[in-house]
Amino acid sequence: MTQAIAAPNALLEWFRTQRRDLPWRTPRGVARDPWKTLVSEVMSQQTRLDVVVPRFLDWMRQFPSPADLAAASEEEVLAAWAGLGYYSRARNLRKAASAVAERGWPTDHAGFLGLPGVGPYTAAALASLCRGERVAMVDGNVLRVLARVFAMGGDLRTGSGKRTLGAAADAWVSRGDAGEINEATMELGALVCLPRSPRCGICPLVDSCKACASGERERFPAPKAKRETVDLVREVAVVSCVGAVLLRPSRPDELLRGLLVPPDVAEFPGSTSFAPCGEVRHAITHHKVLWKIHRAALDDFCLPAGWVAVPRAELPSRVVSSLVRKSLEAAGVWPSRVG
Ligand code: SF4
Repeated sequence: MTQAIAAPNALLEWFRTQRRDLPWRTPRGVARDPWKTLVSEVMSQQTRLDVVVPRFLDWMRQFPSPADLAAASEEEVLAAWAGLGYYSRARNLRKAASAVAERGWPTDHAGFLGLPGVGPYTAAALASLCRGERVAMVDGNVLRVLARVFAMGGDLRTGSGKRTLGAAADAWVSRGDAGEINEATMELGALVCLPRSPRCGICPLVDSCKACASGERERFPAPKAKRETVDLVREVAVVSCVGAVLLRPSRPDELLRGLLVPPDVAEFPGSTSFAPCGEVRHAITHHKVLWKIHRAALDDFCLPAGWVAVPRAELPSRVVSSLVRKSLEAAGVWPSRVG
């Protein structure tokens, strides 16, 4: 392991010339701002970097500090997050912002872990990048790089695999500025040590990489056990009533938890006259969603508790899910653009 532990020096030299300029990064040696770090890390989970960068800049204009986000309503926050998906991230960000606005920023990893919605990875990002604490960030890129450098077999996502990987990652960042080593390792995973066809010819770790030496680079890391796909089919009712569309918050057992969605056909009286008007398909994590859209118009309807009648013109500001928007478009109730 001694040879591999020396590798961060070569990695850091590479990183200092090749690192991408991102709006949340700071010049070498300057601690990162925790608010920008938290927002960028949360946004980057499950979202591509080219999508994140402009959305991060918009977010920072709208919520330049945790206090600004804490003062916003949940509806405003979800609207600002619209299109990024996984809306629990936005809700948790708001809760964390409220905690920071009340009590200030924590000073170390354990303190960051106490923020609502902040898990070990994000806490490690905040602690190492903003506080200089020696703690490793282990995301998919880091997992791949270290699995290859140390030729670590077995599933590194299981309990014992995580412990092995965690020990290797801790040793990896223990030889210098942990924040910079973390960032450099992730950057290498994103730009050079690609899942397929890693670019070993230009890799600063090529001399110490055991997987490369073995000629079986792509055998590491072992593939993740595939999660079974779940099909979710709904008969969706898009019902207009006096210029408004009837929506309700999605239930805890449904996708899009808490967001406004059209109800099920079965939630309306059997006498309601529905016309089928298309289907909308969508993929969310391992769920394959199929919504069969049915349209109806009512002159009068007694809204159950929690339901709302949203005037058509207000739909773009109240509906944040792209799945719901597509369904309303299929039913012809989404307002057409003016001009
Ligand atoms: S030498 Fe190749 S396999 Fe090893 S870390 Fe570099 S890019 Fe990845």
